[in-house]
Amino acid sequence: MYRSLNDEMREKFGGKVYKLALEGGFTCPNRDGTLGSRGCIFCLGGSGDFAEKPCDSVAEQIEKAKARVAHKNPCGKYIAYFQSYTNTYGPVSRLRELFTEAVGHPDICALSIGTRPDCLSDEVIKLLKELNSQKPVWVELGLQTIHPKTAEYIRRGYPLEVFDSAVERLKAAGIYVIVHMIIGLPGETPEMVAETAEYIGKSGADGIKLQLLHVLRGTDLAADYEAGLFRTLELEEYIEILEECIRRIPPEMTVHRLTGDGSKKHLVAPLWSADKKRVLNTINASFKRDNLVQGSAL
Ligand code: SF4
Repeated sequence: MYRSLNDEMREKFGGKVYKLALEGGFTCPNRDGTLGSRGCIFCLGGSGDFAEKPCDSVAEQIEKAKARVAHKNPCGKYIAYFQSYTNTYGPVSRLRELFTEAVGHPDICALSIGTRPDCLSDEVIKLLKELNSQKPVWVELGLQTIHPKTAEYIRRGYPLEVFDSAVERLKAAGIYVIVHMIIGLPGETPEMVAETAEYIGKSGADGIKLQLLHVLRGTDLAADYEAGLFRTLELEEYIEILEECIRRIPPEMTVHRLTGDGSKKHLVAPLWSADKKRVLNTINASFKRDNLVQGSAL
């Protein structure tokens, strides 16, 4: 059994709450030349396909994003989600302006910020702590793997100790931490993937996002895939590894995601992942069969 995002939302907000993907107009050190210019090997340039345009103000973006999902969200409360690129990679004054506007919106019940562990200065964490005293602040860290060889291959750009320190400092500031990991990275065995989940489980983080590796057109990963340097997982293999990851994390850790949301337009492999309904139904059926869940897994 595990704790799902729905459990967390019911407890914290009294029901399901939708995330609104917002754009802060950031880049990231793996793209702007600070650490590299080609980005992480799998990255197409941020992961916010549905994010609003950064030229709009935060309030305008919230209204536009709300209009897309309002019909599904009777409670009218939302999480402001700064998802694409590295959303703490900028002057603190700019971060303060953006995040304060989001937190101050009456329909926003929490702020979620996707970032890198090496882009969390003490000054940034101080700001997040301050905002967290107004509304809950979640920080989402893209760890992907604990294995140095894979981290080097994907060009993550920071060592594991930087992640450890970021989680420690965020938790000391009372911030809710979610860690992203990828299942199916080239060269990783199922045991290596499970070790990453276990490590995240022991890290002090509150939540985990488990994502399937998507090979996207235009990335260097796609070039390696097309050159036959690795293969992607089949659905059944994915679920088997996913289940082992769930078994390795503590039951109180919230599972925010059980698969990925890759761009269908750019998807090269695995093509089965484009049929989201089938993927979710198969995960649900497996989890029920293997006693990992009572109701719905998602
Ligand atoms: S995955 Fe994140 S850190 Fe890596 S290149 Fe893309 S935006 Fe930058």
